[in-house]
Amino acid sequence: MRDKVEEKGRRRAAVDDASVTDTLRELTAYLADRGHAPGTVESYGRAASHFFRWIAHRGSTRRIRDESVGRFLVHLRRCRCPRSGSRCLFTVRAALKHLMAVLRRRGSVAPPKAARASTIDRVLDAFDIHLRDTCGLAEATRIYRRRYVHEFLLATLGAARSTSDGSGPPTSCGS
Ligand SMILES: [Zn+2]
Repeated sequence: MRDKVEEKGRRRAAVDDASVTDTLRELTAYLADRGHAPGTVESYGRAASHFFRWIAHRGSTRRIRDESVGRFLVHLRRCRCPRSGSRCLFTVRAALKHLMAVLRRRGSVAPPKAARASTIDRVLDAFDIHLRDTCGLAEATRIYRRRYVHEFLLATLGAARSTSDGSGPPTSCGS
């Protein structure tokens, strides 16, 4: 039984490791394509590796979300990880912005909340036209129906959750 559990854990770790290696390789190519200096590419790659190790320590790499970046930046303040690379908030935030772009391109992370919000707006607009033209409902009635659907969509798509990590904007790497 224990052997089976250990075997399953090893297999899952191997899949995640392969996915992380692929993503880091893709990030390197992505940054090089955008004209970043080799030193920056290396620094961002180390920050991304640190992020993946932190994520792996907390659970599956498949659960990376925008909020994960905020939580990681909070971790950075008290980080004692070996091989952490840069702990400069400005550098790490920039690195993870690029990493999230790569993960989004691969379809590993959901679109940004702003994109989801505009999807909600489009659905609400279409719904409102349906209520007005097909159902013949008055504006006052439609306001309530739109509100209920809006709340439902926010709860379903998770866009209502705060993205704030409380870390504030980075200013410089001088410290
Ligand atoms: Zn750390």
